[in-house]
Amino acid sequence: MSDIQKKLANLRAEINYHLYRYHTLDDPLISDFEYDQLMNELRRLEAEHPDLVTPDSPTQRVGAEPLEGFEKIIHPIPMTSLGNAFNDQDMANWLTRIERLLPEGVTVADLEFVVEPKIDGLAVALTYENGLLIQGATRGNGIEGENVTANVRTIKNVPLRIPTSPNGPPAPARIEVRGEVYMPVADFEKFNQQQLAKEKKVFANPRNAAAGSLRQLDSKITARRPLAMFSYAVGYVEGAEIRTQKEALDYLSALGFAVNPDILHTGDFQEVLNFIHTWMERRNQLPYDADGTVVKINNFNLQQHLGVVGNAPRWAIAYKFPAREATTKLWEIKTNVGRTGQITPYANLEPVNIGGVTVRQASLHNFDDLAKKDIREGDTVVVKRAGDVIPQVVKPILDLRPAGSQPYQPPTRCPACGEPAVRLGDEVALFCINAACPAQLVRQIEYFVSRGAMDIDGFGIRVGDQLAQAGLVTDIADIYFLTRDQLLSLEGFADKKADNLLAAIEASKQQPFERVLIGLGIRYVGGTVAGLLVDAFPSMEALQQATQADLEAVEGIGPRIAESIVEWFKRPANLALIKKLGRAGVALAAVQPSGKAAERSQSLAGLTFVITGVLPTWSRDQATEFIRQHGGKATGSVSAQTDYLVAGEKAGSKLTKAQALGIPILDETGLRDLAAPMTKT
Ligand SMILES: [Zn+2]
Repeated sequence: MSDIQKKLANLRAEINYHLYRYHTLDDPLISDFEYDQLMNELRRLEAEHPDLVTPDSPTQRVGAEPLEGFEKIIHPIPMTSLGNAFNDQDMANWLTRIERLLPEGVTVADLEFVVEPKIDGLAVALTYENGLLIQGATRGNGIEGENVTANVRTIKNVPLRIPTSPNGPPAPARIEVRGEVYMPVADFEKFNQQQLAKEKKVFANPRNAAAGSLRQLDSKITARRPLAMFSYAVGYVEGAEIRTQKEALDYLSALGFAVNPDILHTGDFQEVLNFIHTWMERRNQLPYDADGTVVKINNFNLQQHLGVVGNAPRWAIAYKFPAREATTKLWEIKTNVGRTGQITPYANLEPVNIGGVTVRQASLHNFDDLAKKDIREGDTVVVKRAGDVIPQVVKPILDLRPAGSQPYQPPTRCPACGEPAVRLGDEVALFCINAACPAQLVRQIEYFVSRGAMDIDGFGIRVGDQLAQAGLVTDIADIYFLTRDQLLSLEGFADKKADNLLAAIEASKQQPFERVLIGLGIRYVGGTVAGLLVDAFPSMEALQQATQADLEAVEGIGPRIAESIVEWFKRPANLALIKKLGRAGVALAAVQPSGKAAERSQSLAGLTFVITGVLPTWSRDQATEFIRQHGGKATGSVSAQTDYLVAGEKAGSKLTKAQALGIPILDETGLRDLAAPMTKT
């Protein structure tokens, strides 16, 4: 090995170790900055020696060329499926069946069990040869799967080379590691939000998202998806001896794989059952979806002795969590109006006990879903309660439908204010877009005064509720016309509190136009979109006159956002609200910087930034505003047009992508320095 090869190998091992500390152990040893320097060094060396780039290099995690189709892979050892248990009796029966088959001299009392969560994702088998990841395959039908190696490589907690840690055991000659690829619940929700904002399709649940992301022919797409993997079994291993499931999990963990921390190893079957029941109660608080637990006999010799029946092993069983469902009568279908004006249907039910909780109301999702399922008033319906979330009507039982029932008709007007209900584009939801709608008012005030908008101190939702109930405000502009006496008439308001609130309201008039625009709560117009709009249309008047085409011409504004804005400005009530805000003295146009501020404001002109992660002192919106004030532009996604990535703590895929594209990375201080180099002495 040449010196440069050695240097590259050491650098890769070091970076892979830090990736493992960060993504698998959640315990990084070095700062992001130090990490970036290592990566930059590696990229520089690899650019000088392109022939020395290896498949285990961390620079290779960004995805490869798209495939025409997936190659089929025959699993050397079939990936079996598991028998199911649905209650404790099923578990007792399983144990009894095992008892009859135990070898001479072994009793049930000698058995040890390992209980693991059953993650709801996609099962995969990874093959490592002399420590190097050489293949990743989906389970498929258990006999034959698909080659998804390029995609698996992009999953950040999948080691490209084992062991990941210098203290790990030596790599075995060959090993097949089995596990579940999943999308953490929080990442799934964030991902769907981003998809919505980009007007792309959303996934129904984390499992679909994980499967859809892993089975992408273009691994560059997979690389952008927040996937993770838990390893739970060794398919086979050459060059190491493992005798039990517990040893297998410990071994996988030592090699650097992520193993679920919530695992029980016990000889007490009652403890197994208790653990499962605790799990069932906790399932909604977990950062991932689990649809049950898997119980395995620990000892591999015993596993082999018990064998397989059909295609399910006798030595393991999945205890499935109950889908908490019940049937009841649906009395009537009603509607609700939220802050954004979205009108949603819900059902009033004949009270029914589901999993110990009396359910009287259930969500009907949206009007399309309701129509598709043809749920009617008077139907007997299946209701599902998935933990802490609102109970949902699953479907009607058609056999029990009363004669003469009629399909449900969605409302044509807002149930609260009577203004027409509208559908925005291909959106499934109905909206009330009257800004003065009383049902939306309290939520709108809450949003208008919040930190990201007008940032009015001491103005909580309780105050908003009091003001609306007392009839002192009928729209958000009314808060600027409140008097001291009016506030003092409210419960809990003394002189000081009233004065403080009035002062805070007064101070909010200094907020820039952009904040006012955010505060209006126009659907899809949050911090980033408001910034783009203010750049292109620096006053409310200009924005109001913008057509759908004008709006779509702005980079970052899609047809759905544009339509939402145009629709909003069509409503006379909204136009009246703007006039009233103007009379109140709120900024309805961007202020042109003058004097010193104007000079400084051009220091970032022509530069495009992307902000990611958590910055030490600024919110994402504040950083965006800072960049705009200095003449720069902040966009949402990293591309070749990006000049700088501003990265904070927990920066994720954007950081990886920026690094891959060689885009310079700044922290918050770096951004300030770039904007105002003159102020440094
Ligand atoms: Zn309304």
